[in-house]
Amino acid sequence: MKILLASNNAHKRMEIEGVIRQCNASATIVQPRDAGFSFDVVEDGTTFAENAFLKANSLAMLLRGKKLPGVTLDCSLEELARRIDALFPDRLPPVLADDSGICVHALENRPGVYSARYGNVPGSPPLDDEGRNALLLRELAEKPDAVRTAHYVCHAVLYHDPDRFIQVQETWHGEIAREPAYGETGFGYDPLFTIPGYGRTVAQISQDEKDRISHRAKAVTALLRAADRLQETGLTGA
Ligand code: IMP
Repeated sequence: MKILLASNNAHKRMEIEGVIRQCNASATIVQPRDAGFSFDVVEDGTTFAENAFLKANSLAMLLRGKKLPGVTLDCSLEELARRIDALFPDRLPPVLADDSGICVHALENRPGVYSARYGNVPGSPPLDDEGRNALLLRELAEKPDAVRTAHYVCHAVLYHDPDRFIQVQETWHGEIAREPAYGETGFGYDPLFTIPGYGRTVAQISQDEKDRISHRAKAVTALLRAADRLQETGLTGA
């Protein structure tokens, strides 16, 4: 099964491909850029579920010739239809969307759905991962006695057609380290996120390990299993 990912994020793609390998699924991830277009959508939902569905639905509707409000596309709908048809000649592909973030308990679960935009100030360039991690540590330093527990959330949607989709939300619990510790793995808040029993940050474990135990691993594995069951029934026709 070829799946179109509603994201331009190279890290998310790599992790989702890692999860697919770990669970021996026969899915291939295609990103908009592989099909020669780029799309974006204003993520104005207030929950992970809303934003994940927004991304999946926006891309799925583009594939069906409809541009929803808040969506940007770098080519015409006609050109998009030609490019999609060249890559997926038999039928429209299912769309996969992932909305994720980190919820820090002493900060009332912030930055949560705003994790990618944490610390952004209108009119100024957005912070990079290092800047966001430094801001998180500063906010926690203002609460010296607070617990340092946190969890990642991943909400994943597999959208087959407008009245058939699967949604799964999963978490990964851990703690925020006193300072970032870097390694070879992950992105975003991983240099700060430690998991019980590991004594290291996620950035310091292997990518294979992360792809077995992370919030994204749990959500995408559950989604792929559910998709397999749908396929067995012949309901998706995929
Ligand atoms: P999204 O693209 O709107 O889902 O934004 C997700 C943001 O949450 C990312 O840009 C990261 O800052 C953060 N995030 C989500 N998952 C992870 C992860 O696995 N590791 C580190 N940061 C993550």
